[in-house]
Amino acid sequence: MSATYTRTHVYLPFADPYLTCELCHRWVTGWHNPDKCGCDEPVTNQPCSCRAGVTSACPSWSPVDGCQCAQQLGAVGHGVPPARTELLYRKTATGGSA
Ligand SMILES: [Zn+2]
Ligand SMILES: [Zn+2]
Ligand SMILES: [Zn+2]
Repeated sequence: MSATYTRTHVYLPFADPYLTCELCHRWVTGWHNPDKCGCDEPVTNQPCSCRAGVTSACPSWSPVDGCQCAQQLGAVGHGVPPARTELLYRKTATGGSA
């Protein structure tokens, strides 16, 4: 596939910061929505650009309280996701490998 990073795409952030890509297992901060974007490119995870689903690394996350693993499970069995801003808008940098 040919990478055409000449235009700016619209990415929608996920509320849950603990989502990971089902394909590459990296943190996912948002997704590309072609309807919102108005382009013909597929739905992809960001920033990895995989065409895959997402799965939450945190079984106890809630929109109100965040990660409850330490309280509910006694241990946090997942890593800490990177800050949103680090990942979400890295797309335009040099438009190459990710
Ligand atoms: Zn787009
Ligand atoms: Zn991925
Ligand atoms: Zn957790």
